[in-house]
Amino acid sequence: MSDIKTIGVLTSGGDAPGMNAAIRAVVRTAVAGGISVKGIMEGYKGLLENNFIDMDSEIVSDITRRGGTILYTARCRDFMTEEGPVKAAQILKENGIDGLIVIGGDGSFRGAQALAGQGVNVIGIPGTIDLDIGCTDYTIGFDTAVNTAVAAIDNIKDTSMSHERCSIIEVMGRNAGYIALWCEIANGADGILIPEKEQFDEQDLIENILSNRNKGKTHHIIINAEGVGNSLRLAKRIEAATGIDTRATILGHIQRGGAPSAKDRVYASTMGAYAVDLLAGGARDRIIAYKDGKFTDFAIDEALAMKKTIDAYQFLISRLIAQY
Ligand code: ADP
Repeated sequence: MSDIKTIGVLTSGGDAPGMNAAIRAVVRTAVAGGISVKGIMEGYKGLLENNFIDMDSEIVSDITRRGGTILYTARCRDFMTEEGPVKAAQILKENGIDGLIVIGGDGSFRGAQALAGQGVNVIGIPGTIDLDIGCTDYTIGFDTAVNTAVAAIDNIKDTSMSHERCSIIEVMGRNAGYIALWCEIANGADGILIPEKEQFDEQDLIENILSNRNKGKTHHIIINAEGVGNSLRLAKRIEAATGIDTRATILGHIQRGGAPSAKDRVYASTMGAYAVDLLAGGARDRIIAYKDGKFTDFAIDEALAMKKTIDAYQFLISRLIAQY
């Protein structure tokens, strides 16, 4: 056991639906264990500006169903300088913080690692719609974001069918293609472009559209990942090569907002509670993960060294289902 009396919590990097559920679980679990919680506004930016607020059970009432983050989030270049984490560690000390919970993505965890290097006890909770954190099969927000994208693409499919068009739909995911791959399967797309498969041949995509049209398909959906980009130009090239009216839609930030899914609410709450349990149990510098069907945790350095790639079997079946 530890003698943790006060903990801090912040959200950093891209916001993700479900972050609020994690914050609520952190606060309520801490309160139940007699631990005080300070919320740090605007991620590492607020940390460097000493922007702390006292958190209690009431502040986190009725936030589970809301997207975004009540603590706000930011990207902060000053934190990435050599002095940033040194100053932040000092500010945390002055505020009496015995442990800091960082809810964010890969970049935020690099920041957490830098803080750990300054003697701060940090616990990371994976929060990103991109699903691109090596140590975990689940990240807060992916489930909601992919469901939002699937629903939006269904809507586009209706109009694409009516006009017998080809629709290129660009989904988010930064340098990862998880949202795109899930949409390809869930929306019954004709093809996909993702950064992990850069060797993917655009000519194959065109031939697949033409082959599906010859088989009688009157509309086509191509999912393009943000990390590949250039959807407008891709639409022009596909239209020129196939002779089929082709339009591009970039879904954008619609995928980051909205009420979190039940899965995101429940998993985020579990991770929030788990983080406090780790601190109360005396753990140091861990990243929480959901791996092989179980909630677990890894040392920060180990977690950040872990790599993840698109599941080969999922990619294979997505190809088969799209082409046959
Ligand atoms: P995400 O956490 O969603 O991946 P970012 O990559 O933008 O988002 O990272 C969020 C913030 O974390 C950055 O604005 C910066 O303050 C901090 N950060 C990112 N990378 C590092 C790093 N290598 N060292 C220290 N801090 C970092």
